[in-house]
Amino acid sequence: MKKNPDSKGHFGPYGGRYIPETLSRAAEELTRAYQEIKKDKKFQEELRYYLDTYAGRPSKLYEAKNLSAYFGRGRIFFKREDLCHTGSHKLNNALGQGLLAKRLGKTRIVAETGAGQHGVASATVACVLGLKCVVYMGVVDIARQALNVYKMKLLGAEVRPVHSGSKTLKDATNEAIRDWVTNVEDTHYLIGSVVGMHPYPMMVREFQSVIGRETRQQILKVVGRLPNYLLACVGGGSNAIGFFYAFLKDRNIRIIGVEAAGAGIQSSHHAASLTKGKPGILHGMKSYLLQDKDGQVQIAHSISAGLDYPSVGPEHSYLKDSGRVSYYPVTDRDALCGFELLTKLEGIMPALEPSHALGYLPKLMPKTKKNDIVIVCLSGRGDKDIDTVKQYLGAEK
Ligand SMILES: *Cc1c(COP(=O)(O)O)cnc(C)c1O
Repeated sequence: MKKNPDSKGHFGPYGGRYIPETLSRAAEELTRAYQEIKKDKKFQEELRYYLDTYAGRPSKLYEAKNLSAYFGRGRIFFKREDLCHTGSHKLNNALGQGLLAKRLGKTRIVAETGAGQHGVASATVACVLGLKCVVYMGVVDIARQALNVYKMKLLGAEVRPVHSGSKTLKDATNEAIRDWVTNVEDTHYLIGSVVGMHPYPMMVREFQSVIGRETRQQILKVVGRLPNYLLACVGGGSNAIGFFYAFLKDRNIRIIGVEAAGAGIQSSHHAASLTKGKPGILHGMKSYLLQDKDGQVQIAHSISAGLDYPSVGPEHSYLKDSGRVSYYPVTDRDALCGFELLTKLEGIMPALEPSHALGYLPKLMPKTKKNDIVIVCLSGRGDKDIDTVKQYLGAEK
C-alpha cells in the first residue's frame, strides 16, 4: 500500500492544502511540530497519561448478546467510546491537539462545533491544560444543542454565534479558520475531525487511531481472532477512520462507513457526500463534496448535528475510490429505529450519529453467518439528543 498521505498531504487525488498564503507558515509549523511529537517519548507518555486517567481509556468492548439474538445471526460487539469522559470519542483528538498547542507555546485555542461535542471536548481540554478557548458555532446548531452550549460556557469557553451561510458547521469552520489567520501567533486551531488542510486529516486520524488499536487487542483477547465486519458512522470521518485504521491491511475484513441520508438521498435534504457528492474543494482540502450544478456547496441536512457536514475527510474519499471501504447512506428514520433498538434491547442510549451505523444493521445482519463477528463503533452517548428524539418519537409515545 502507498504511504498515505504523501509529504504534501495527498490521499490519492484528495486532501492537500488549499489555503491562503497567510496560513501556509502556520500549517508548516504545525506539520513540523507534529512530526516531532510523534517520535517524542515524553509527549507520548503525557498523552497516554491523560487518555488513561482523564478520558478513561481504554474504552470497553461490549458483546451485545440481546441485540445479536434479535437478529439471530452473527455476534455484535460495541466499541464503547460513549463511555469516554465528555461522552464521545472527540476527547482523544482534543487532548492530543491541546498538548501539541502547549508544546508550540500557544495560549489560546479556537474550535468549530456542530453538535457541540467537539466544542465541549475542546473547552474541557482548555480547562485542564490552562488554555483560553473560543468556540464558533452556527446559530441553528446553538438552538438545537442548547445543553452543550451551556456546558461550554460553564467550562469557561466563549461561544461565538455564527450567522452566515447555513448557520451550521460549515460556516462555523470558516469563522474558526478566519480567527486562526488573524491570531496565528498565540492561537492553535483545534479541528474536530479528519478534515481541513494538511496536516489535520493525518494528525487527527493518528490521535483517533487509538480506538482501532485497542479494539484489535480486545477482540483478539476475547474471541481469539479478528472480526469479519467493522461498522462506523461518518460525519467528517474521525471516529470511523480511527476505528478502521488498524484493520485496513486485513483484506478479509469488510469495512463499512455509514453516512447520513437525512430525508432520503433522492431529496435535497441529506448529508451523503460520498454517495451523492463530487470531488471539490472546501476548508482547505479536496474531497467529495455536496454541490449543485454550478459547483456551489449544497447545504447538508441530518437529524444528527454531528453528521451535518457537506464534505468528508479526504482519506475516506480515497478509501471509497479504492474500494477498500464501502459507504452506505442511512436515513433519519432508520437511525431513529437504530436508537430505539439499542435502547430497548441493551439499555444503552446511543448518540444519533452512531444510531446511523445501528440503522444499517437490519441490512447487514441477515448476510452474516452464525459465528461472524461484527464490531460497531459506538462513537458517543445519547444524552445530548434526547430532546430531538422526543420531538420525532414524541407523537408516537
Ligand atoms: C462528532 C461526532 C461524530 C461525527 O464526527 P466524525 O468525525 O465523523 O467521527 C460521530 N459521533 C459522535 C458521537 C460525535 O460526537
